[in-house]
Amino acid sequence: MSKHVENVIIIGSGPAGHTAAIYSARANLKPLMFEGFMAGGVAAGGQLTTTTEIENFPGFPEGLPGPDLMDRMRSQAVHCGTRIETETVNSVDLSRRPFTVVTDSGEFQARTIILATGATAKRLNLPGEEKLWQRGISACAVCDGALPLFRNKPLVVIGGGDTACEEATYLTKFGSTVHLLVRRDVLRASKAMQDRTKANPKIHIHWFTEAVEAVGEKVLTGVRVKNNKSGASEVLEAAGLFYAIGHEPNTKFLDGQLELDETGYIKTVAGTSRTSVNGVFAGGDVQDKVYRQAITAAGTGCMAALEAERFLSEEGVH
Ligand code: FAD
Ligand code: NDP
Repeated sequence: MSKHVENVIIIGSGPAGHTAAIYSARANLKPLMFEGFMAGGVAAGGQLTTTTEIENFPGFPEGLPGPDLMDRMRSQAVHCGTRIETETVNSVDLSRRPFTVVTDSGEFQARTIILATGATAKRLNLPGEEKLWQRGISACAVCDGALPLFRNKPLVVIGGGDTACEEATYLTKFGSTVHLLVRRDVLRASKAMQDRTKANPKIHIHWFTEAVEAVGEKVLTGVRVKNNKSGASEVLEAAGLFYAIGHEPNTKFLDGQLELDETGYIKTVAGTSRTSVNGVFAGGDVQDKVYRQAITAAGTGCMAALEAERFLSEEGVH
């Protein structure tokens, strides 16, 4: 007897995965989602489960807590007919169709796969970080920068890439000063971004400088830094500490079966969610290192579902 073949398996459960689920369920594709169990160190529901208030997702003028937004997305996906398994996908076989998806409980087959496994912001795990995470420490300036606790206060950004320069520049709208901590004597960012950052009078770049401790009791009040050339150490007064030291896309389980870029993100054909394997689509942060927002993840999750539906109907599945 041949094994049951799913029309679409969605891997990942952030805004991209749930939007893909809502669209494919409404298209009668009866999607099966693996939402993960602390996959990539993040709870099912994705990165927004690790934050407090979301103020920039349209439709919620008063804002709402990140976990509530994800509960609502999950309920909507289930209401539309998505089946959700709280399991992490260990591996996939994309070499032949139907594709195979492997979890601890078994093997599943699918005509199409939507990858929405997101990315995890890298952290430094400094002394004091655990206690002060989301109490002044964040990994997303665009998400948290406008919060009242950062207004007209000194802020610290760590990193020397495009994200760090972009976030430092963005934070000058809110903070009194932005200290940019760079561990070497060069910025990795593009030339244009470097020039803009260096020309901004509110940004103070500290070369050869590393953070060694997050200081504060209930909220962050400072960051202890160390010059890695001279060994000199001081505490910079700060209400905010923003990590911009890169993200880790959750793509290891794909084991090189899809084209990834040099930093491990899934490559999609520009303007689409198509990957290098026919029938496999990707949405959200796992294929986006520029925008990284809930709404862009939802948007590309929608694209992935619409493209999977089109792919299936061309194959005669309705
Ligand atoms: P993610 O949210 O990354 O979710 C992916 C999910 O897939 C995770 O649950 C993961 O466990 C699961 N998964 C991974 N691997 C597997 C596997 N092998 N098998 C099964 N499941 C797997 N954006 C905004 O627009 N506004 C904000 O205010 C905002 N605040 C933020 C605050 C913080 C602290 C952070 C970290 C991010 C914030 N963002 C915000 C960014 C936003 O969270 C992301 O852009 C968005 O969540 C990306 O969605 P996604 O669907 O691509 O994946
Ligand atoms: P990058 O990997 O490019 O840069 C990370 C930065 O963090 C580097 O300066 C690195 O230092 C520093 N860093 C890493 N680990 C540590 C650590 N433990 N302690 C201190 N510093 C550390 O990441 P980005 O997120 O900036 O960018 C990722 C990609 O996305 C890039 O390709 C970038 O061009 C792109 N991007 C493009 C944007 C745009 O076009 N507008 C906006 C944002 C990102 P070092 O240099 O010493 O290694």
